[in-house]
Amino acid sequence: MAWRSHGKNHRDLVDQLKSHGIIKSPSVYNAMAAVDRSDFCHTHEAYKDNPQPIGSNVTISAPHMHAHALETLVSHLKPGTRALDVGSGSGYLSTCMAIMVGEAGRVVGIDHIKDLVDLSLSNTARSHGNLMKTNRLKYVVGDGRKGYSDGAPYDCIHVGAAAPTLPQPLVDQLANGGRLVCPVGPSGAIQDFIQLDKDDNGKVTSKKLMGVVYVPLTDKNRQV
Ligand code: SAH
Repeated sequence: MAWRSHGKNHRDLVDQLKSHGIIKSPSVYNAMAAVDRSDFCHTHEAYKDNPQPIGSNVTISAPHMHAHALETLVSHLKPGTRALDVGSGSGYLSTCMAIMVGEAGRVVGIDHIKDLVDLSLSNTARSHGNLMKTNRLKYVVGDGRKGYSDGAPYDCIHVGAAAPTLPQPLVDQLANGGRLVCPVGPSGAIQDFIQLDKDDNGKVTSKKLMGVVYVPLTDKNRQV
């Protein structure tokens, strides 16, 4: 996956992702164009196509990874669907997901660090506070390895941190017909970006999409 979609401003960044073929779908383009990365990334390099620090020893993912995740889930982020974003961090991806699922959809972003959940709330409030006021998007503090059963089942689950093995509660909370994506592998090494699909009868299949490097899905006291 190319790390070359640097932009002069937010629209340029999203246009670069499109011209490099990473953004393919109009709904992904429209959602990412509507969510300015500088509201969620407070370094001087918000429009660079690379991860940037957000505190608590973690990063906002690179824009091309956000675009790739949304493209992989696009068929499951239709109006009215329910989504869970595990390791919501800055809130960027959760906000894009909430735009894609429309007024009747629901998105939960979960992170185990309260400071990051507070950051995602204030980041989202800059331009998209209406998504939270209407309960389309909510952020919760919790261990994402257990999922968030109150909102289950989910049509799609995105995991934004690398799990040593795929957490079973997340598979259990995926609806029939649903799709889950998760980096799986050891911390600090190349991990497999896994796509798992549950068919209408509940049968699960999975495949590796590519090699990635994500921060670990871990214990709170190991991270901070
Ligand atoms: N998609 C986010 C990625 C943030 S980095 C963004 O682009 O901003 C990964 C996130 O996973 C961090 O915010 C980290 O706090 C969170 N995380 C790690 N382990 C977790 C766990 N067990 N439960 C919930 N969140 C976790």
